[in-house]
Amino acid sequence: MRCVQQQNPRLTIMALPIVAIIGRPNVGKSTFVNRLAKDRQAIVHDEPGITRDRTYRPAFWADRDFQVVDTGGLVFDDETEFLPLIREQAMAALTEASVAIFVVDGQLGLTAGDSEIADWLRQQEVPVLLAVNKCESPDQGLIQAAEFWELGLGEPYPVSGIHGNGTGELLDELITYLPSPDELPDREEINVSIIGRPNVGKSSLLNAFLGKKRAIVSPISGTTRDAIDTVVERGEKTYRLIDTAGIRRKKNVNYGAEFFSINRAFKAIRRADVVLLVIDAIEGVTDQDIKLADRIIDEGRAAIIVVNKWDAIDKDSYTIYEYKKKVMSRLYFMEWADLIFVSAMSGKRVEKIFKLVDVAVEEHRRRVSTSVVNEVLEEAAKWHSPPTTRQGKQGRIYYGTQVSSQPPTIALFVNDPKRFNDNYRRYIERQFREQIGFLGTPIRLFWRGKKMRDVEPSLNRATKV
Ligand code: GDP
Ligand code: GDP
Repeated sequence: MRCVQQQNPRLTIMALPIVAIIGRPNVGKSTFVNRLAKDRQAIVHDEPGITRDRTYRPAFWADRDFQVVDTGGLVFDDETEFLPLIREQAMAALTEASVAIFVVDGQLGLTAGDSEIADWLRQQEVPVLLAVNKCESPDQGLIQAAEFWELGLGEPYPVSGIHGNGTGELLDELITYLPSPDELPDREEINVSIIGRPNVGKSSLLNAFLGKKRAIVSPISGTTRDAIDTVVERGEKTYRLIDTAGIRRKKNVNYGAEFFSINRAFKAIRRADVVLLVIDAIEGVTDQDIKLADRIIDEGRAAIIVVNKWDAIDKDSYTIYEYKKKVMSRLYFMEWADLIFVSAMSGKRVEKIFKLVDVAVEEHRRRVSTSVVNEVLEEAAKWHSPPTTRQGKQGRIYYGTQVSSQPPTIALFVNDPKRFNDNYRRYIERQFREQIGFLGTPIRLFWRGKKMRDVEPSLNRATKV
């Protein structure tokens, strides 16, 4: 059985097996695809040019998930302007497909065009199922389908894309050709959420990510019915862009332009490994942005601050430096996060975001040995001794150890947490940052006294004034 690999190096391995739909125009391919994919809308539909490109739609039958790609009408005998392109798309789709469904029109009967496609399909390596569409008539359906035995592609399945007749039998057969889930490459996914106020450019950024690479994009249903994730494969890595339906929601549903579902944003933050906090360069950091940043830290997610619409700012050589200072003065409690200036509109620096995501993920998952933690603590205490209370009692750090990752969490065992004021705690955290790094991720320090009830979590957020 073929695995989900394809030859074109521009395309990389897809997460789900692909079913290619092939056939002449007007036989009912899109109707059929709509039936298979139901309301699982491909979010790449409104990309300019996509109508003649391939569009992947997630679908499932029984317990099997797959994606359907409608190849556009395949015609061999007419060389109008777009046909070679459509044909090329169909061929490319076939090279990545595990199985193809060849759709013909049962009411019209066998045509010369069908025979040509069948000849071509027989030369391909992909298994082909023959769907004779428009066979909803109980008396005529079987007879209409029987005519297509002549194509030499095995049993013709009488189906009706509009009414649904026969599709069950066809799909039962179809899933036997799909690679089983354990044959699919087991690739680690990096969950990325694009978060920000309305109009900061989240959808534009998503489009910029997908842009030229839309062919390697496949929308996958998320945990809830209306949360749609988009999976992007880049080289060795798989990025799951969380709930991209939410990003575009206002365009599909008639909410006011300013509708902002903070709840939806919070859910997306929770599911992320890395959050892209998108700020509008024209507007600067707003109170809503701060609220989102707060939540990112509370959830312990890695983050990158993405200042978008940088093209719209008048610049001289100091602008970036000054702008960065201004942003960080408002998001000072996120000083560990990388900041990048991009233009989703022109695509400038958008690619670099993925590099920052990779670094942040690595740091978020990083584990540091106990000896390194203690070296840092010893050094820190030598430069700056723990504070002494008014009663003359001095704080003492016995030792520290990293107890978990995502985010990195370090427990510090001390004589009495109360003896360590905010200043000293921030100092210790700074030492960890300086000596160990953890770029792009919040870290957590737990100050533990001798008794368990003394445990005092301390998030790496400076007290707000
Ligand atoms: P495509 O060009 O192959 O994607 O075809 P469409 O899905 O656009 O359908 C072409 C025409 O066939 C439309 O008028 C559909 O309403 C009609 N059609 C599609 N499926 C069926 C079916 O199962 N039965 C009947 N009677 N008509 C259908
Ligand atoms: P969303 O609500 O966050 O998804 O924002 P959209 O992607 O819909 O963008 C909102 C508006 O900002 C649109 O009019 C975009 O054309 C515009 N926009 C998005 N990105 C950029 C950019 O990089 N530069 C400029 N100048 N405008 C942008």
